[in-house]
Amino acid sequence: MEFIDQELVQSSLSLKLKKRARLELLCLSAMVIVLTLTGIVLDFELLGNIATFTLAHEDWELDEIFMFILWSGMAGCIYAIRRMQDIWHLNQEIASLAFIDPVTHLPNRILALERLSQILARAERMQSQVAVMFLDFDNFKFINDTYGHIEGDNLIRVVGQRLRTILRKGDTVGRLGGDEFVLVVEYLDEQELLKAINRIQTLQTEAIKLDSHELNIAFSVGIAVYPKDGNNPSELLKASDIAMYKAKQAGKGQLQFYTQSMGEKLMERYELEAGLKTACHNQELFLEYQPQLCTESQRITGYEALVRWRRNGITIPPLSFIQVAEETGLIQSIGDWIFTQALEEAKTFVEEGQILAINVSPCQFSQPGFVNNILKRLTQSDFPPDMLELEITESALVQDESQAMARLMELRKLGVQVAIDDFGTGYSSLGRLRYLAVTRIKIDRLFINTLCESDIDQNMVKAMIALADNLGMDVIAEGVETAEQSDLLRTLGCNLIQGYFFSRPVPAAKLNALKTRYYTDVSVTKSAARS
Ligand code: C2E
Ligand code: CA
Ligand code: CA
Repeated sequence: MEFIDQELVQSSLSLKLKKRARLELLCLSAMVIVLTLTGIVLDFELLGNIATFTLAHEDWELDEIFMFILWSGMAGCIYAIRRMQDIWHLNQEIASLAFIDPVTHLPNRILALERLSQILARAERMQSQVAVMFLDFDNFKFINDTYGHIEGDNLIRVVGQRLRTILRKGDTVGRLGGDEFVLVVEYLDEQELLKAINRIQTLQTEAIKLDSHELNIAFSVGIAVYPKDGNNPSELLKASDIAMYKAKQAGKGQLQFYTQSMGEKLMERYELEAGLKTACHNQELFLEYQPQLCTESQRITGYEALVRWRRNGITIPPLSFIQVAEETGLIQSIGDWIFTQALEEAKTFVEEGQILAINVSPCQFSQPGFVNNILKRLTQSDFPPDMLELEITESALVQDESQAMARLMELRKLGVQVAIDDFGTGYSSLGRLRYLAVTRIKIDRLFINTLCESDIDQNMVKAMIALADNLGMDVIAEGVETAEQSDLLRTLGCNLIQGYFFSRPVPAAKLNALKTRYYTDVSVTKSAARS
């Protein structure tokens, strides 16, 4: 077993036991001294009296009894000392298993937090500040995958040792697990903290020699400070973890101090995630539909279903929660709900020749069984496949190209139509577009916003229309807000539009009113705009 620095493994319990042992030893020594002194002062001839008494009662064998007591006492003392040694060794082993990380021989999470609470108690008395630093390697998984776990552990050990050497004796370095370390630095003057930070940063510039390789490492560090960011170990560790997460987002080898707004944002995100988990079940989600229009025939050609979430009387727009749903995997169940609901509701308003467009996020699209799931839902709600259009963004199509192409073919075989959403904002190569079984491109709102003012946007839109034409695809412009935009688009060759100009997204029940509105309101608006 490795030697353990006893200073290192001082938990509150062991400190308490040590204190008690010290007190008892002191009391017993005082008792012995007092009794001895009393004997001397009173001139008490204890041994002499015992000897006289023993001689007077020789037949009681008192001398043998006294000797027995004496020998037993001495043997008892030796036995007690030996057992105390055993307990000391056992204690060391237990402490090592419970408190010391076997790879780095540094305090593990339990002991590091224990030390932190002791340092905080001292800081309160001394009116000092304490920085809790959460350190996490960048790309440690890559190192593990490339060089293997043994080299990964070696690296962790070397970095742990270096961290220990660059901090002062009173500071703490602990391994929280995996590639995470916590560093606790107590300081009175901010310069002390800055020095410690500099030393940590310098570590990243030093190459680390392992058995067979030399590696350069980088790590992200989040710092929370007592008493500003928290009063107890768990608050401070959480705050430093949040700051570390922020540092990671900023890139490799970054350092970030905790700010309150970070915590608030995380709390918001946590509440959103928790609420979203029960949103479907609590019937808080609902759909709105935005009509798509052919400006030539003046007919509604379809509707795009857009999800909304009403929570505590407030409607939350999808941009605020779709990404969270994607990151947490909840998009699968929410997506299923959207499909079932949209296909059921649409039966009441989608007419012959119109389509129902449903948005599909990249992670839904890449899910195995995606096409079968669509087929199942179409069959269940008895909805004609050729009246369904899936809106897929360019990013979903570039993730796994060959799989995406195959999936699109399968959808087309079913008769389902596919539109590339937000066209022009992603990174899909135009060359590849011709191999994709796509029926429509949706020109993003970005190009329509300033269409009337910008020649560049007009040329871009013209190019997109020509491209769609050449590839035999439909083209629709989204985000059309004015009569001028609609007219210009028509002149450029795009008759299909969607946007606030005709209608905002509305609940299914309000769609019928829109059908009759078009021929009056919009034509009035348009002629008014022309005059
Ligand atoms: P998107 O697919 O590009 O949807 C169009 C967005 O533009 C909608 O925002 C719509 O309300 C808005 N919009 C339509 N016309 C106009 C206009 O004239 N001017 C302006 N400024 N905006 C207009 P919404 O409903 O907030 O949805 C935002 C995004 O959230 C959608 O962008 C889509 O990416 C996502 N989303 C919405 N519903 C769903 C859904 O059911 N499933 C998935 N996966 N994503 C959805
Ligand atoms: Ca869309
Ligand atoms: Ca769009």
